[in-house]
Amino acid sequence: MVGASRIAARFNRLSVLGQACAIVAAATIGADLLTLIFYAIFFSDRLLLDLVLTSLIVVAVAFPLSYFFMGRSAKLVELAAELDRANRLDDLTGLLNRKTFLLQSRQILSDHEEGAGAGMLLFIDADHFKAINDRHGHAMGDAVLQEIGAALTATIGEQELAGRLGGEEFVVLLRGASPEKAAQVCERLRRKVKAISAIVGMSGREVTVSIGVSKHQPGQSLDALLLAADRNLYLAKANGRDRIVNTDGKLAAA
Ligand code: GH3
Ligand code: MG
Ligand code: MG
Repeated sequence: MVGASRIAARFNRLSVLGQACAIVAAATIGADLLTLIFYAIFFSDRLLLDLVLTSLIVVAVAFPLSYFFMGRSAKLVELAAELDRANRLDDLTGLLNRKTFLLQSRQILSDHEEGAGAGMLLFIDADHFKAINDRHGHAMGDAVLQEIGAALTATIGEQELAGRLGGEEFVVLLRGASPEKAAQVCERLRRKVKAISAIVGMSGREVTVSIGVSKHQPGQSLDALLLAADRNLYLAKANGRDRIVNTDGKLAAA
């Protein structure tokens, strides 16, 4: 069984042409063996000729068929990967979509060591984003969202979770991070976002974000953690936007 699955794994790694050739080779060997057995029983004097003929027929029939079906199968594998990507990721920014972020974060919160918090959550919202759409068009708004996604990816480590909750709202879970680490990440992100106007060629205004931070407490649910960060985000907005409100509800210097 292990041998068969190893063969199947090696077969799957071949190109479509390689897979078609492997099938044709197996079919030819099988057909020639049957021919050999048949003529061994009936004492044919044309054994060599018939072996060649059998091989040619098998190649002519099996090659186009296996090339066609392996091509379809490769397409199906490709489509399945695309479907998986579309199911997990936000199509505009490439970050995790809402469903996946919530699912993976819940998993992290339930897996972490008892007695310690799982890390820090950042709730990020683009400031006056509606005005960007209204003044510069929806396409420019989309480009800004993509750049915020890129700034997030560039700011956090590969181990961290970053998602788009919807619209112009983003979330990050920094696993095992301290409030100080979260504050550093937020400040780096806040500065990076300010460079977006120049990147997308938007004149007249700076893109900014407000960020609310919360620290996961042992046993705290994801909903409660998100709510605490959202409250701090609200404070950041109320205090003028383009700023960070840390886990203690205090404004970081903008
Ligand atoms: P605040 O600083 O208080 O957050 O103000 P805001 O304008 O950013 O917030 P508001 O909730 O009033 O507006 C959010 C806007 O985001 C409205 C909606 O049209 C826009 N938006 C949501 N999703 C998308 C999207 O995928 N692309 C674009 N271009 N705009 C979007
Ligand atoms: Mg906003
Ligand atoms: Mg919003």
